Amino acid sequence: KRRRFTAFLDWRKWKRVVRVLKELEEGCETPVGRLRQVVDAMAVEMHAGLASEGGSKLKMLLTFVDHLPTGSEIGTYYALDLGGTNFRVLRIQLGGRRSSILSQDVERQPIPQHLMTSTSEDLFDFIASTLKHFVEKEESGSEPSPVRTRELGFTFSFPVKQSSLRSGILIKWTKGFAIEDMVGKEVVELLEAAMVRSGLDMRAALLVNDTVGTLALGRYHDADTVAAVIIGTGTNACYLERADAIIKCQGLLTTSGYMAVNMEWGNFWSSHLPRTSYDIDLDSESPNPNDQGFEKMISGMYLGDIVRRVILRISLESDIFGPVSSRLSIPFILQTPLVAAMHEDDSPELKEVAKILKETLGISEVSLKVRKLAVRICDVVTRRAARLAAAGIVGILKKIGRDGSGGTTGGRSKSDVKMRRTVVAIEGGLYTSYAMFRQYLHGALGEILGEDVAQHVVLQVTEDGSGIGGALLAASYSSILQRG
Ligand code: BGC
Ligand code: MG
Repeated sequence: KRRRFTAFLDWRKWKRVVRVLKELEEGCETPVGRLRQVVDAMAVEMHAGLASEGGSKLKMLLTFVDHLPTGSEIGTYYALDLGGTNFRVLRIQLGGRRSSILSQDVERQPIPQHLMTSTSEDLFDFIASTLKHFVEKEESGSEPSPVRTRELGFTFSFPVKQSSLRSGILIKWTKGFAIEDMVGKEVVELLEAAMVRSGLDMRAALLVNDTVGTLALGRYHDADTVAAVIIGTGTNACYLERADAIIKCQGLLTTSGYMAVNMEWGNFWSSHLPRTSYDIDLDSESPNPNDQGFEKMISGMYLGDIVRRVILRISLESDIFGPVSSRLSIPFILQTPLVAAMHEDDSPELKEVAKILKETLGISEVSLKVRKLAVRICDVVTRRAARLAAAGIVGILKKIGRDGSGGTTGGRSKSDVKMRRTVVAIEGGLYTSYAMFRQYLHGALGEILGEDVAQHVVLQVTEDGSGIGGALLAASYSSILQRG
């Protein structure tokens, strides 16, 4: 009798768990029909954001980059890449022929946590001194200091309202940065002041978003590159737009007729997005509620925390994870690389899952069934993220008439349209280091576009694109300015 009663309790407990899981699965559903609605909404918002200032949650920011590297760039340039978990300083030497980056040195460092919420002076002093050491190391042993001031491409991966290639003010912070005094300030001025304080002779030649740097490196390697996407700590995209389509900026003069537009798609929102109570709680407890809604469903900063919230909820509703671990209540304790590790654990006993549950979340001794449940949660959350990112990419393709639907050329049927090869440069740890994420993203691209169209779309990993691309652009513009 007692055994039967225990079995009954167990059944009741799992019934509750299954209900929570089912609710999660339903809440995160992304059938292709819904993804298409997201695609359409993205394209519509892009139009709105280009039509007027504040016309959409998509800011569609001007970058003043109207000219991408061609491969003829020459000389030595530095770059600084700030904006995610790490920051990078690099130096490249360009030989003047396509794909001839002669040498390239990169140094990456995690940004000390306290500097993300300190003052702009603290942050930039730290950066300038790191940069100075790097320069000294790079140039030691070479000829005494050059006559020419060193030039730097500054990649700054936050929303910036630019007024020229090398000036712009920070609109707001994202990704956990919160340095109050910097909002509304000229970013390059702050950097240059710090370089002066540290005695470093260097000039910021231009200021770019990481997506724009990635677009530049993508184009350097492949002339069919038309857009760039970052899926890392944060997420965003940029693409080449016709200057005359940027209606909010009438009479915009560009030499090429094009300009790279920084979409800031992390802030995209649509009622078609599959949103759960976990997303709502995550958003309202974040330092930037109602902001970056798309980013909070997709990017590496947040996926782990969504998973943590689901596990916490299940833990509160049943004891399958044992007594409720206090660690489960610590925001961001479960980082996305650990989600990837659990998701991709292919050991029969799910050893890695057990280890992470124990060491990170303080949940020990869970049965295989419970470990499988944890993997399932990772799968649901990651799959939704990857498929939404795919819909975002197709939204861009649609806007520029590369989705196979004929776009601006009129309502021809798919089969009539000869698809041009279309390359999207892509960077960011979530995409490059999480195979399941990549797989889901590619799967969704194929579903939305149809395989006949999808085969013409190449997602090209562009490693260190944000930094190297910044240096390439500095080189490219410096030769344009020299020619006058
Ligand atoms: C920022 C973008 C950036 C993206 C990827 C977002 O949080 O707002 O400017 O491109 O992260 O780094
Ligand atoms: Mg980055």
